[in-house]
Amino acid sequence: MLMGKYFGTSGIRGLFNECVTPELALKVGKAVGTYLGGGRVVVGMDTRTSSETLKSALISGLLSTGVEVIDIGLAPTPLTGFAIKLYEADAGVTITASHNPPEYNGIKVWQSNGMAYTPDMEAELERILESGNFRKVPWNEIGTLRRADPREEYIRKALEMVKLNDSYTVVVDSGNGAGSILSPYLQRELGNKVISLNSHPSGFFVRELEPNAKSLSGLAKTIRVMKADVGIAHDGDADRIGVVDDEGNFVEYEVMLSLIAGYMLRKFGRGKIVTTVDAGFALDDYVRPLGGEVIRTRVGDVAVADELAKHGGIFGGEPSGTWIIPQWNLTPDGIFAGALVIEMIDRLGPISELAKEVPRYVTLRAKIPCPNEKKARAMGIIAREALKSFDYERLIDIDGIRIENSDWWILFRPSGTEPIMRITLEAHTEETAKELMERAEKLVKEAVRRA
Ligand code: MG
Repeated sequence: MLMGKYFGTSGIRGLFNECVTPELALKVGKAVGTYLGGGRVVVGMDTRTSSETLKSALISGLLSTGVEVIDIGLAPTPLTGFAIKLYEADAGVTITASHNPPEYNGIKVWQSNGMAYTPDMEAELERILESGNFRKVPWNEIGTLRRADPREEYIRKALEMVKLNDSYTVVVDSGNGAGSILSPYLQRELGNKVISLNSHPSGFFVRELEPNAKSLSGLAKTIRVMKADVGIAHDGDADRIGVVDDEGNFVEYEVMLSLIAGYMLRKFGRGKIVTTVDAGFALDDYVRPLGGEVIRTRVGDVAVADELAKHGGIFGGEPSGTWIIPQWNLTPDGIFAGALVIEMIDRLGPISELAKEVPRYVTLRAKIPCPNEKKARAMGIIAREALKSFDYERLIDIDGIRIENSDWWILFRPSGTEPIMRITLEAHTEETAKELMERAEKLVKEAVRRA
């Protein structure tokens, strides 16, 4: 995907005071206000030490264009998404660098329906930003600023949709991120006994922010010691969820995606499950008997939300723990997701048992070095060669190239941020997976050499 000067795969992201500066935040505020031509915008921020200065600058820019600002302060991304709809705003902006290290920060813009700005909308913002041609209003039309806290409303609405018969012991690890101010409280209001880890929202992160088996070892240990029923973890802005089961084992993202998609079909009825081209077969095989039809989009929450908004569906999720529950909102929401996970346990049983029903296949990943300027040509060569040398039934080329048949799939995709080509593949047996990877690697290396 072609990236602009400022906006990348997930809004604006970079080192504070180097790439992401208060000056830039001011201009983004002006650009958003110019794009909207007035109206109302919700602004929320994560716990990073640089968030307050960026938020203040962004709000200044918005107000100067005549936009009314509702500042919800420290807020996980899903709470900002919720507030956009609650306050009937025209857009939302989050100051966050998601799972990146503490010295990073970023800006992400959201639509009135709760989904992120599409690449086209970001390109338009970028054009306004570059032109410096911002909307200016006279003194008596400057936007008003008010502060609000939508947490109570969020919890009240969530409790209308999620109901438990029993109470559970839940360990919540918010990673010192913005989830700290909401996720443990929602779990408590659901009637659970909550043990909260890393919930001091200081901007100093005790663990790596990406939820994975390594970063959640403390959570896993707590589950074993406290004999808890489940662990819920988030990244810095809590749009993602990682789950640790009742035995203290991190539940692989693909397995969790299958389980929750299956539960959504049980809860809301048959229908479409939206995922991305890098998701494996387990999801298809697990949800088919439950009346689920899997649709694949480009990688990224905005592509999943866009598909759900345009064509409907029961559930959308990526194999990175980013889930969108359209009955709730089009903003990825790791906190509401946490409530649904407990409801699933309440109805169906412990996750360690449920996970046994999800089929396991062999997934292999490889990275082949490829200079950015060679990526397009190399992909062209791969497209032609892959077509010839593999015996596949279907080709999906919405994001990279995925070829598949009923026994395996291979995805060739250039990285959006690094000078590498990624190969992801899945097969039913180790032997087939290895053999396919050998051929795929050879093909990509050859393509990069010739590009
Ligand atoms: Mg995130």
